[in-house]
Amino acid sequence: MEERLSHLREQFKSDLGNVKDLKDVEQLKVQYLGKKGPIQDLMQSLRECTSEERPHLGKKINSLKEELSHLCEEAITGFRSLELKERIAREKIDITLPGRFRFLGRKHPITLMLDEVNDILRSMGFTVQYGPDIDSDYYNYEGLNFPADHPAREMQDTFYITPTMLLRSHTSNTQLRVMETHTPPIRVIAPGTVFRNEDVSTRSHVFFHQVEGLYIDKGVSFADLFATLEEFWNRLFKRKVATRFRPSFFPFVEPGLEIDIRCTACEGKGCRLCKESGWLEVAGAGMVHPEVLKNGGIDPEVYSGYAWGIGIERLTMLRYGISDIRLFAENDMRFLRQF
Ligand SMILES: [Zn+2]
Repeated sequence: MEERLSHLREQFKSDLGNVKDLKDVEQLKVQYLGKKGPIQDLMQSLRECTSEERPHLGKKINSLKEELSHLCEEAITGFRSLELKERIAREKIDITLPGRFRFLGRKHPITLMLDEVNDILRSMGFTVQYGPDIDSDYYNYEGLNFPADHPAREMQDTFYITPTMLLRSHTSNTQLRVMETHTPPIRVIAPGTVFRNEDVSTRSHVFFHQVEGLYIDKGVSFADLFATLEEFWNRLFKRKVATRFRPSFFPFVEPGLEIDIRCTACEGKGCRLCKESGWLEVAGAGMVHPEVLKNGGIDPEVYSGYAWGIGIERLTMLRYGISDIRLFAENDMRFLRQF
């Protein structure tokens, strides 16, 4: 019996030396100390011993059982603390890592340019008015001296919603609205989006932005228009910018003209941006046509005025060196985050 006990102890220790994890130990515990284990067998075999031997051997078996049980608990505690240490190491927070960065929204480059243009013109005495994006044919064309079937309508390929309602093709649709509701002197700007049914390319899009300017008072002349716009370009580019005025035709002004500034990229030497001409077209303008003043309820014998439409996309592309107008409408975050 003594021999069996000693052999069992050695066997157990050897098995315990081979366990790899908590599960192994628990299995070993059941194997040795469970109801079908060798310790239980030994207890059963006590019956075969003499009554003199029994108490002594019973003690020995119990003591072995306690010893094995103790060794099992020790191993279990060991594995548990090891597991805890590993988990702590795994889950530790590295406070030296950079935090998660949240991108803040920012203004679109077109909005930045609109804000800048508006600020300059407001500082020069203009107030801001807004006209509707969807308007009647009357405010966009008819009242601005574009009679029905007038060939000038084809200059601006228009999106019609109904035969009489359309997406405005220029911010000039605000002119009559302002004249109808204000008495001269009128000095307003009207920024906004305009729409034309054009092929989308690097230089043209189906919608873009303009800032309309309108000044009506007694004795307003071309000289006022030139002086005001020259001052405007100088302030916008923060230096002296040469301007050029070319005769042109728009039904709602007489005379009409187109305004160029000296190319800001090549200073007039000629480059790809200005198509080697040295000049960039940036606005259309003219003296308000007497018929338009009449339609707005203003006496052209007493008052005169000028109007302009400045293209915002062109200015934004010049300011930031952008070569493709389509980028403004694509919502590519890589592009937008640069502003
Ligand atoms: Zn150039």
